[in-house]
Amino acid sequence: MPELPEVETIARDVRPLLVGERIARAHVHKPDILRRIRRPAFQRALAGRTIVSVGRRAKHLVLLLDDDRRLIIQPRMTGSLRVDANGARRDPYDVLTFDLGSGARMRFRDVRRLGVVLLLTPQAWAAYDAAIGPEPLERAFTPRRLAEVLSGARVAVKKAIMDQRRLAGVGNIYASEACWIAMIDPSRSAHRLSAADIERLHAAIVQVLRRAVEGRGTTVRDYRTGTGEPGNYQGRLAVYERAGEPCLRCGTRIALTWALDGRSTYFCHRCQP
Ligand SMILES: [Zn+2]
Repeated sequence: MPELPEVETIARDVRPLLVGERIARAHVHKPDILRRIRRPAFQRALAGRTIVSVGRRAKHLVLLLDDDRRLIIQPRMTGSLRVDANGARRDPYDVLTFDLGSGARMRFRDVRRLGVVLLLTPQAWAAYDAAIGPEPLERAFTPRRLAEVLSGARVAVKKAIMDQRRLAGVGNIYASEACWIAMIDPSRSAHRLSAADIERLHAAIVQVLRRAVEGRGTTVRDYRTGTGEPGNYQGRLAVYERAGEPCLRCGTRIALTWALDGRSTYFCHRCQP
């Protein structure tokens, strides 16, 4: 599932191709991706609108339109977004396409169709935004802020940092990576971390996300950048999908457990006691 670095990469790739473009026509090919709005109303609302900005919140793309509404695209498992210069032929997995004023076409493609698309008024956006935790790559995200969001979290630290209401954008891959960098056992209860643990975890989260953005994200299966290529960070992962391989710090075999939250958790027994 695309996490912060992957969605940030898509946003950066498509931004120069979308900002200032007018949506001549919107086509919803698979209406089951829409939430809180039906296809005819959605298509009508978008026709003629200009895209003012392309951003990201947590693991979602946010396109601001010139009527102050925001189009939210949640790629979830297999969704990918790209812009083809000369309205390339439709793909059977396209779920939403925009014919743009310049003749280009924006395509949201989603093989498993688990992605979600929303169109939000400024008020609905305010509520949406408020329900998500702080952005870890913003200046306001400090160790103190991390301590605040983890206080009272009587769950495993890995689970707590993946909870989007507490912290934005971190999923299964970068949660495992951050715990390894910080030398923290991912199953430790979040509210029991010391100030020093929090300090290390904060630095680890910021470091791994920054590096993964620089690496244009991690492709283990489906993720593609906004230009249709795989990311480059998968070769630099320390623990994720490295079960049985030597820890890069101490040589101990990387362990894999499903016991923590029903999802794969990779860690080093020795470095993360
Ligand atoms: Zn180790």
